[in-house]
Amino acid sequence: MSDIATHLAAIRDRIRTSCLNSGRESESVLLVAVSKTFPVETIRHAYDAGHRVFGESRLQEAESKIAQLPSDIQWHFIGRVQRNKLRKILSSFEVIHGIDSLITAETTDRIAAELGIVAKIFLQINIAAEESKGGFTPRDLSMSITRIAELSHLDLQGFMAIPPPAKSRDDARHWFSELRNFRDFIQEQHGIRLANLSIGMSDDFETAISEGSTVVRIGSAIFGNR
Ligand SMILES: *Cc1c(COP(=O)(O)O)cnc(C)c1O
Repeated sequence: MSDIATHLAAIRDRIRTSCLNSGRESESVLLVAVSKTFPVETIRHAYDAGHRVFGESRLQEAESKIAQLPSDIQWHFIGRVQRNKLRKILSSFEVIHGIDSLITAETTDRIAAELGIVAKIFLQINIAAEESKGGFTPRDLSMSITRIAELSHLDLQGFMAIPPPAKSRDDARHWFSELRNFRDFIQEQHGIRLANLSIGMSDDFETAISEGSTVVRIGSAIFGNR
């Protein structure tokens, strides 16, 4: 077995255990293997180990890898979304995690319509309202969600977040739990389905799963340090 196959098996095991501990089905969490900065040969090890869901954050780098790898891979765009690159992002990726403003959501909807597709998207929430970070603050989101829910070429998956750097596990837990509560509140208040939470990375995915994550984005714990 390659190192990567071993790491993948270990991560899948830890996901299963976390689900079990929270009384959840292990199929309720999707593992996105974040392959940014790693070459095609490395990604192929994960593919050969049966993995089919990968995440990339830079369009140009991703386009070249996607062209070289099998077409049954589901690619997730996890980087910052530049509106002038949306047409290309939508052509190469099945899911976009970082829709971070109303205008980006509207542009995605328009281009998806032109391409004749319905785009699977996550809204990125700046849950701690950090100045330095993109994404909807809870306040922005509350003001935009009704409009976003009307965009018929978007398939709204749910919320994505990258919490502030944690000094302890409890910090991450706090922000994951805030995000889930906010999601529950928006669902109820607006009657909008937000089935998924894209939270949890190499260092905190078990905490994220215990707080309701349905999509974990894991890079270094599978592929090594970047
Ligand atoms: C790089 C990245 C990840 C993966 O981070 P690791 O700590 O390597 O698991 C997850 N999400 C986003 C948005 C990233 O940019």
